Amino acid sequence: MLTHFADGIHAFDSGYGRPLLDAIHLIEDGGRVAIVDTASNDSVPRVLAALAELGRTVEDVDYLLLTHIHLDHAGGAGALMAQLPAARLVVHRRGARHMADPAKLWAGTVAVYGEAQATQLYGRLVPVPADRIVEADDGLELRLGDRVIEVLDTPGHARHHVCYFDRVARAFFTGDTFGLSYRELDVDGRPSIWPTTTPVQFDPQAMHASIERMVARRPVAMYLTHFSRVTDVDRLAADLHRLIDEHVRIAEAAEGDGKTLTENIVAGLRALLYEEAARQGWPLELSELEALMAMDIELNAQGLAVWLSSRQPATV
Ligand SMILES: [Zn+2]
Repeated sequence: MLTHFADGIHAFDSGYGRPLLDAIHLIEDGGRVAIVDTASNDSVPRVLAALAELGRTVEDVDYLLLTHIHLDHAGGAGALMAQLPAARLVVHRRGARHMADPAKLWAGTVAVYGEAQATQLYGRLVPVPADRIVEADDGLELRLGDRVIEVLDTPGHARHHVCYFDRVARAFFTGDTFGLSYRELDVDGRPSIWPTTTPVQFDPQAMHASIERMVARRPVAMYLTHFSRVTDVDRLAADLHRLIDEHVRIAEAAEGDGKTLTENIVAGLRALLYEEAARQGWPLELSELEALMAMDIELNAQGLAVWLSSRQPATV
């Protein structure tokens, strides 16, 4: 089930949502293991199987590294930590208390998805004991075997987002800050990119700055949760900057309020998606493309609507 990359990095499909949507990465050095993101409770058996495939045990895991606490990345963290006796959970300071007490996180998820779908997607969130949580402050260096993994605070997609820089691999684990890159859109192995502006903390200026901070390290690869390894980082970063600006332009030009506003933003984003499909030569029929991207377009539109309203002065 594992895909093996260079420098002791491995990936597998968490099983969340659909195939090739949500990756979990393992970093292995000197017999020690770090896991990057965990999807939902349903992914726990897959993590255990991945460790077995590497010839490692649950005792060999030093860290569960969360990029942020959106539940397609962190939903399974509590259930997984219960299986990992030696591991510490590493998460942004803003996310730490929500991992220890997931009640507010759950309420926020229900607000986006509704109770029924939230339960179907994530099951029950398991709290992580507070004394097993390490706050991932900017510049924190984590030792794994013989390598150092550095934490960068990378707001933009969410304020509780960090990315992890592996100095041996010269690669980032980017969560959602470096956008989405679905393998179905590859053209002869050439990847494309698409930003994710999910509610409720999208901040375009912060997202641009976080991308530039990572690119300045000259990484040779980015490991995205959605979905795994991409190279050609400079080209993808340029496309990402352009597409973030397009998202902002579409949101600012959209008319109406409430549901109408979101629908108008969706229409604008779909037009942008078609333009990008032509520009990149994506190898999908339009109906296939729509099916692949429908959820992301909807979430991006919702996130942009929230961002627009957060910029407006409060009404009296
Ligand atoms: Zn996210």
